[in-house]
Amino acid sequence: MALVVQKYGGSSVADASCIKRVAQRIVATKKAGNDVVVIVSAMGDTTDELLDLAEQVSPLPPGRELDMLLTAGERISMALLAMAIANLGSEARSFTGSQAGVITTSTHGKARIIDVTPSRIQEALAEGQIAIVAGFQGVSQDTKDITTLGRGGSDTTAVALAAALSADVCEIYTDVDGIFTADPRVVPLAQKVDKISYEEMLELAASGSKILHLRCVEYARRFNLPIHVRSSFSAKEGTWVVSNPYSEGTEMEQPIISGVAHDRSEAKITVVGVPDKVGEAATIFKTLADAEVNIDMIVQNVSAAATGRTDISFTLPATDSQTALSVLKKIQQQVGFESLQYDDQIGKISLIGAGMRSHPGVTATFFAALANAGVNIEMISTSEIRISVIVGQGDVDTAVQAAHKAFDLDADQVEAVVYGGTGR
Ligand code: ASP
Ligand code: MG
Repeated sequence: MALVVQKYGGSSVADASCIKRVAQRIVATKKAGNDVVVIVSAMGDTTDELLDLAEQVSPLPPGRELDMLLTAGERISMALLAMAIANLGSEARSFTGSQAGVITTSTHGKARIIDVTPSRIQEALAEGQIAIVAGFQGVSQDTKDITTLGRGGSDTTAVALAAALSADVCEIYTDVDGIFTADPRVVPLAQKVDKISYEEMLELAASGSKILHLRCVEYARRFNLPIHVRSSFSAKEGTWVVSNPYSEGTEMEQPIISGVAHDRSEAKITVVGVPDKVGEAATIFKTLADAEVNIDMIVQNVSAAATGRTDISFTLPATDSQTALSVLKKIQQQVGFESLQYDDQIGKISLIGAGMRSHPGVTATFFAALANAGVNIEMISTSEIRISVIVGQGDVDTAVQAAHKAFDLDADQVEAVVYGGTGR
C-alpha cells in the first residue's frame, strides 16, 4: 500500500462539477489500495476575487486580516470536496492548515513553513479516511495567527505534508498536461517535458513560471521527493521533477535549454546619484532586507568620474515596491542619493537549461534572436544554468516566442492543451 499525496489547483476545483470529477479520481486512488491525502486550492479565481474585495474596503488591508480572508477560499473547497467524496460513499475529513499541523513563521502573506506535525492527518488515515487539507495556509508559531504562504503556496503545503508523512509520491494536478518548454498560452507550439531536474525547476519557478511554487521545489529537493505534475482533466503521464533525470542508464539526453520562462510581475527601481563610497550599497540593500523586500536583479552603473556618483537599479516584485520606495525615501538624507525612479512596465525573460554549462554560445544565440525580433534589452543577469533579461512589458510575448524558436524548441504541431483556468 502506498501513501499518495495529491494536490488539486484552483482550476481543477473551479465549480461543483469539477469538484465531483476530482472526488471520483480521489476515490479511485483510494479504492486502488492507497492511503490518500489531498491538498486543495481555492476554487477558480476565488483568491483574486477576495483580494479585489479587500481592496474595495481598504487600499492597504492589515496583513493579519488579509490572511484570515484569503484562507477562507481553501476552506470552502476542502469542505465541498469532502462532501463530494462522502456522496460517493467514501469517508473523507477536511482540515485547515492549522489543524493539519502546518506551523509557519509570522510574516503575513509570505510565511515560511518551519515545522509540520500532521498527527491529525495520521489519525484520519489510520481510521481509513481520506484526509483533505486546505493548501496555502498555516499557523504562526509565535503569534498563533493564521498565515498564508504566498500566491501559489498550496504546492508547498502538498510537498511539505508529503515529506512529513514520508509519502511515496506527490502528485500536483493542474490544468495543463505537465511542465512545458514555455507557457503554452504565449507559445502555442511549446512541448511537454517528460522529466526535469530540481535545479532547473527551481530556476524556472524563480523566473516566473507559475506551474510550481518556488518553495515547493526547494522542499522537494531537500527531501528528495519526486513530484509528478499532471492534468486533472486527462489520464496522461505528466512531468516528473526528480534529482537527476539525465543520469546514465536513462535514455534522456540533456537538452541545452529546458525551458523559457517569463515574468510580468516585477518592477524596477533606480536609485539615482548614489555617492560612490564604500558601504552605500550595503546600506541600501540592508534597509530593503530589513523591510523583507526580495531583490532580484541588480545593476550598478560605472560612476561618472566628474560627479563621483553612480546609479543603482534593481528589480523586485511589483507588490513590494511601495514598501521599498518608502523605506528608501527614509534613508535618502543619510545615503545622500539624488532621487528614485520607478518603472513597473517591465518583463523578465529567462532561458533555463543544465546543458548550458557545457555549450558555449547560448547567450549569443539568445541575444541575436531578441535583436532580430526588435526587442531591446534593459538589464541582464545570469546563473550557471540561466540567462535572464529585462525588457519592456510590451515585448514579453515576442521575446519568449523568438527565444523558443531560436533554440529549436517549437513542436511540429500543437501538443499543449489548456484544459481550464482563466489564466488570471
Ligand atoms: N489559492 C492560492 C492562490 O491562488 C493558493 C494556491 O492556489 O496555491 O494563490
Ligand atoms: Mg499553482
